[in-house]
Amino acid sequence: MITIDGSEGEGGGQMVRNSCALSLVTGEPFRIENIRAKRTKPGLMRQHVTAVEAACVISGAECTGLAVGGSELTFRPGQVVPGEYHFAVGTAGSTGLVLQTVLMPLVLANAPSRLVLEGGTHNMLAPPFDFIERAFLPIINRMGPQVSARLVRHGFYPRGGGRIEVDIAPAPLLPLTCTTRGPRTGEAAQVVVSGLPFAIAERMLARVRRDLPDWPESAFTLRQLPADQGPGVILMLEAQHSEVTELVSGFGQLGVPGERLARTSAARMNGYLEASAFAGPYLADQLILPFALAGGGAFSTVKPSQHLLTAIDIAQRFTGRRITIEQAPGGEHQVTFS
Ligand code: ATP
Repeated sequence: MITIDGSEGEGGGQMVRNSCALSLVTGEPFRIENIRAKRTKPGLMRQHVTAVEAACVISGAECTGLAVGGSELTFRPGQVVPGEYHFAVGTAGSTGLVLQTVLMPLVLANAPSRLVLEGGTHNMLAPPFDFIERAFLPIINRMGPQVSARLVRHGFYPRGGGRIEVDIAPAPLLPLTCTTRGPRTGEAAQVVVSGLPFAIAERMLARVRRDLPDWPESAFTLRQLPADQGPGVILMLEAQHSEVTELVSGFGQLGVPGERLARTSAARMNGYLEASAFAGPYLADQLILPFALAGGGAFSTVKPSQHLLTAIDIAQRFTGRRITIEQAPGGEHQVTFS
């Protein structure tokens, strides 16, 4: 049994989700203590409980300590059973984070699966649907499995009510070497707004136009959803290269002016465009699981985040693989799996 101190490294919920996913694939049981000890409200939150429940449902895993507020968990994996599953995260808990937990076990299963996930689709501190669809899944699909995702209905914090559907055709994960982005092939700046004044979205878009002056006019779009899918607003900036797409998002928050959100998002996109690494900071931590399970390959990334380092640590413990990070000239970092 692997024992994890949840207060180490990044000290957040990702340690729980990644441990469940790796445990299901490797068959290694684990115990995690001090869950989310570094957060202001430590312990499991509703969305972490749903993610672990999902891991139990797809495999008959046995779990003790699973409760909102719980700080210790023991997880004994079972055999993953592919099939049709429906998970409702409740409130606006992120559907993307539940997907993070069950995706690798299901792409490595012996038959296809179909998932329906309900909850938040565009919430802060989690991958928005568009990031999963356009930045993350194309890489998984290049590794062998075929995963397609559809956004049926948006779900914003705090109301939630979103729905995504995911079809998974499993296959072994093949190692990839992803060290260059390739030439830029396009860009898109989109604001999606629902149940809020349209003027907020227009101001956000005006600001990013100013901060991304070389992006063509056709790249900027505004989409208004029916008010019952809101209230919510999100800005998504997408840089497409031949090998990878980066998607930077700015989530509307009460009390944070739209212009400020747009300025910060544009600055992050400009930072990515000035660098040459393959993966942005979020994609990097999300690629650790598939690359570690492929048992080889490499990718380059921008400055390593604490999430990335912690994901590496957990993946090494479950898989016994060696994962190294080396700084290359020019500030890029190379993550290598062996
Ligand atoms: P905690 O509340 O304990 O921090 P959590 O379960 O909400 O935990 P994290 O442990 O912070 O979440 O993990 C968040 C995950 O969401 C990471 O994999 C990160 O890459 C991803 N993520 C966060 N924000 C974005 C974003 N804007 N775009 C893409 N991915 C994101």
